[in-house]
Order: sequence, then structure tokens, then C-alpha cells
Amino acid sequence: MHRPGMNEENATPQDFLCDFCEACWGEDRPMVEGHRGSLICGRCLTLAFDALWNRGQGVPRPETEVCIMCLSPNDDPVWISPARDTARICKRCAKQSAVMLERDKDCGWKRPML
Ligand SMILES: [Zn+2]
Ligand SMILES: [Zn+2]
Repeated sequence: MHRPGMNEENATPQDFLCDFCEACWGEDRPMVEGHRGSLICGRCLTLAFDALWNRGQGVPRPETEVCIMCLSPNDDPVWISPARDTARICKRCAKQSAVMLERDKDCGWKRPML
């Protein structure tokens, strides 16, 4: 998410916050952007990817809520942030985000293996 009240003309790394843990963007914390400015950082994506793809720990999406990355009411299970229960990412977005972060060689992020 973007920090509320940020100056769009003069954005700093501190203005970009992970929706899942509220930490700000930094060299050691790469991020992937979803729809409407939602963001997931590498560390949260590691947890989400591990739960959804390696361990099958996704939960059914609450009927009235959507994945904040794609805003799509698909049938994928979701991972809900332990820090912010309004932040959830679906299985498909976890995969897409992992592919995007891995493409960014500089950030050094790798999807977690079992
Ligand atoms: Zn995070
Ligand atoms: Zn999604």
C-alpha cells in the first residue's frame, strides 16, 4: 500500500509499505505490486508461497473478501497475513509474484523449497 497522505510527486521508499507486514520498501525488502497499489514484500511472499504451494496450508477465501493482489473472486485458496488479517493473497498471485521477483536478479529472492 502507499502510505496515506504521501506526496505522489516526491515518493520515497518509506512511502511504499507491504500490505502484509507494513514494513517499508528497502534494498533488503523487494516488493511486488498488485492491483490498486497493493504490495507484498519478499519476506511475506516467502511465507505465503511456502504455505500455499509447499505445504497446502491455504484457507478458503472468505466469501465477501477478495485477494488484495488481483481483486478477483477466484476459487483459489488464500494465505492470510498473521500481522494484518485484511491482507490476503491467492495461490495464483503467490506464484505470479514469485515469478516476478525471481526475474529481478538484483534482489536475489528465491522461492522457498520444502
Ligand atoms: Zn511484508
Ligand atoms: Zn490473487
